[in-house]
Amino acid sequence: MKTDTPSLLNERNGTRVRVGRSSAGLGLFATDLFKKGERIVEYTGKRLTEMEVGEIVENRYLLQINDRYTVDGSARANIARYANHSCKPNSEMNTVRGRAYLSAKKKIFPGDEITWNYGRAYFNDFIKDGGCKCSACRGA
Ligand SMILES: [Zn+2]
Repeated sequence: MKTDTPSLLNERNGTRVRVGRSSAGLGLFATDLFKKGERIVEYTGKRLTEMEVGEIVENRYLLQINDRYTVDGSARANIARYANHSCKPNSEMNTVRGRAYLSAKKKIFPGDEITWNYGRAYFNDFIKDGGCKCSACRGA
């Protein structure tokens, strides 16, 4: 298991986002303007191999990077873990050279909650049974 490497992006952008109350518990909010396509935060954590992932019973914060690695983003230091799922998100998770970044899909204004679509596998495992509570699905 490789140890976490510091995220320069998160050191730089740590003051441009905040963790706060949202309809889904805690959420990640912008405190600054983000341009479309701009990187917001990196999804950080320990890198696990497929074999290590296979030994985990339940962890909502696993993010597969590629065929070889999955990031365990469960540590609180990973501020990206606070970004909630939305079926109509304003950001997206992109993988670039083995690292995962949350980027703005459109202009994000100060005060906006930052959301991304967690994808079908996560949705089926963790969301579907309880019903999706994102703002798009609640009609808010
Ligand atoms: Zn939804």
